[in-house]
Amino acid sequence: MVVATTAGTWFASDLAVDALRKSTGQNLEEVAVQLRDKIQLDLHERYSDLMVAAALASEQMENEQDSDVTGMLNALEKNFLAYAWLGLVSPDGTVLASSGDMLKGMNVGHRPWFQEASTKPYLGDAHEALLLAEKLENESERPLRFVDVAVPLTSSDGGFLGVLGAHLYLDWVAGIGESLLAPMQERLQSELIVADKEGKVLIGPEGSLGSTLNQSLIEAAQSDKPGYMTTRTGLKTQANGEDYLVGYSRMQDHDEYASFNWLVLVSKPAEEAFLPARELRNTLVISGALVAIVLILFASTMARRTTRPLLQMAHEADNLDPDNPSTLIQLRDDYQEVKVLSSVLRDLIQRLAEKTRQMNELNTNLEHRVAERTTELEEANRRLEETVRTDSLTGLNNRRFFFELGHSAVKKSVRSGKPLSVIMFDADLFKKVNDTYGHAVGDKALIQLSEVAQNTVREIDLLARIGGEEFAILLEDSDEDAAAEVAERLRKTVNDSPVALERGEVMLSISAGVASFVPDRDNKLDDLLVYADKALYAAKSSGRNRVCRHSETSSKDRSSEGDLMG
Ligand code: GH3
Ligand code: MG
Ligand code: MG
Repeated sequence: MVVATTAGTWFASDLAVDALRKSTGQNLEEVAVQLRDKIQLDLHERYSDLMVAAALASEQMENEQDSDVTGMLNALEKNFLAYAWLGLVSPDGTVLASSGDMLKGMNVGHRPWFQEASTKPYLGDAHEALLLAEKLENESERPLRFVDVAVPLTSSDGGFLGVLGAHLYLDWVAGIGESLLAPMQERLQSELIVADKEGKVLIGPEGSLGSTLNQSLIEAAQSDKPGYMTTRTGLKTQANGEDYLVGYSRMQDHDEYASFNWLVLVSKPAEEAFLPARELRNTLVISGALVAIVLILFASTMARRTTRPLLQMAHEADNLDPDNPSTLIQLRDDYQEVKVLSSVLRDLIQRLAEKTRQMNELNTNLEHRVAERTTELEEANRRLEETVRTDSLTGLNNRRFFFELGHSAVKKSVRSGKPLSVIMFDADLFKKVNDTYGHAVGDKALIQLSEVAQNTVREIDLLARIGGEEFAILLEDSDEDAAAEVAERLRKTVNDSPVALERGEVMLSISAGVASFVPDRDNKLDDLLVYADKALYAAKSSGRNRVCRHSETSSKDRSSEGDLMG
């Protein structure tokens, strides 16, 4: 940005510098024109002086009046300081009268001004003093230099009566330069250079006399149009390499006489001339860069001021704990947008936190309800399972469950190598109980029988009701002896536990069959039950209220077994 601003300012200041150059150049040009005009005016006044004096003198000479031409010439000399000499010359070149009587009686007939002015008014270009050099005081080290103005004296019939001539100190031109430039020197600080039409310096800075101007400057200045240019003047005194800004103009010919066509220049070192321009450019560029730097600083400060609260909010949002409303984004007072943003964010987060809280609550409720339902379901399942495996009248395991467990018990026994036994028992003559006391009493008797049996067997033994008044017990890790012992104890307990009625009691008895496996890979539950059933049948057929072992019945004839078991 600084570079861009500096470049922009440089470009803009270029325009300003160009404008400043132009106006300085035009100033110098104007001054050159003024100086030229003043020189021309002075010369023309001298020409007019002489014309008037010549007319007077001619008239007097024609009328052969006594006249005081010398007095008139002295008066003219006093009137204009630059006159070095004025004289009236006869047609043969003898000085008849002169200011201060200088050169009076001498012959100047060979001088160009006399010869040229015998036919028409003449302005003679700068030259060194010849005859007058010894007669006039010269304080400077240079030789005296003059320009000449001369006019012819003519009679009324056009006859040649002589020449009125004057020498002007060339330094009068330097005087014009000083008097005209002095008031503007502070502003312009320039020097006057006057060169002849060939470019040879007549008036100029110390030591520059006689040097020739540089060619391009001569060509420019010789044109009719005044102007200005930046160039090397070519003067010995003006440093070789240095450029000057030069305003120029050329003296014009007059209708009545030819002029010298001097080149009138006003010069000033370009370095100085363009110094204000350069200073202006530097000021513009530096102030432009400073402005850019200030703007950058301001912009970055503003940017920091703008982003700081946003970054802080982002940081707060990052560290936000949605469960803890106290960590909310703070309300900010930085500037309007941040104020609005912080408040909107705060509300948003508050609402989000509230929503989250409600969701959590909902979740917790849901979890509770799911847990409750699960418990209920598990309970229902448990009850269902119990129902499925329980006999509804006695609460004992039912036939289905007995077979289920029985199969796995057989496998277990085969794996462990431990014996497995079954007791199968049946209430004796139970039809008669029903018939005598009614079905309800029969049910009560079955329930009590179940309780007695349950209390008699071990915890691990599996007791089940497998038919109407028919039961089975599965005894793991028990051989036939042990099982027979259990069966016998049960039979006795049943004998000793009559069923109490409202009036009296009912005696019950059971018959039991016992069968055992010695572990074998081919063992099957059905076989064991068939064996136990056979033993039960044997107990029934041998008089009831007794226990029979399968091992004791197996050797007997079983031809009639199938009928009895059906
Ligand atoms: P046995 O000594 O040969 O077994 O004679 P029993 O009368 O017990 O044998 P039977 O098979 O002829 O009769 C069984 C009776 O048991 C028939 C039936 O009325 C009765 N019974 C079966 N289940 C129930 C029951 O749940 N409740 C009642 N009250 N009686 C039942
Ligand atoms: Mg029976
Ligand atoms: Mg029966």
